[in-house]
Amino acid sequence: VENVPEKIDYVFKVVVIGDSAVGKTQILSRFTKNEFCFDSKSTIGVEFQTRTVTIKTKVIKGQIWDTAGQERYRAVTSAYYRGALGAMLVYDITKRQSFDHVARWVEELRAHADNSIVIMLIGNKADLVDHREVPTEDAVEFAEDQGLFFAETSALSGDNVDKAFFKVLEEIYGVLC
Ligand code: GDP
Repeated sequence: VENVPEKIDYVFKVVVIGDSAVGKTQILSRFTKNEFCFDSKSTIGVEFQTRTVTIKTKVIKGQIWDTAGQERYRAVTSAYYRGALGAMLVYDITKRQSFDHVARWVEELRAHADNSIVIMLIGNKADLVDHREVPTEDAVEFAEDQGLFFAETSALSGDNVDKAFFKVLEEIYGVLC
């Protein structure tokens, strides 16, 4: 069996940021491998994973970058943001503090990333409804205020994960092309 190499029209770099333990790695593996790993260890050495999708007849390779735990040491460097066309800014709907820190992450993006970067605010762990600490309306208001897209996702169930990534890739395509 031969592998027919696919013709890639574009490669879009998307970074995943946010506090530690909000589910960044799981969101990434849900989107790129349709997997959720219950005993996730930080993926040391792996900088990004990819998934190729078709948007309006164009073949687009999403190159999705993970901080691999660096955010714990506030060591996310400008190299991480370099060339990024999209950002998934993740908080945990069951951890108010992770939402309170979102403004700082937006500042970080504004300081290090390209001005035209497409930002999607993501409230993850939406399956944990009984433990919710962040009302959807608070996030909607913040997102509108800052000009961000917004979605609530569950990496565990897979809810909205593809939709959020497709939205970002489509928006990037719309900005560029
Ligand atoms: P990261 O540090 O932001 O990369 O977070 P991880 O992806 O390592 O996830 C942190 C913890 O939250 C792990 O124990 C995951 O299993 C759990 N987790 C991640 N996403 C979800 C989700 O959507 N729902 C639930 N219930 N747990 C999640």
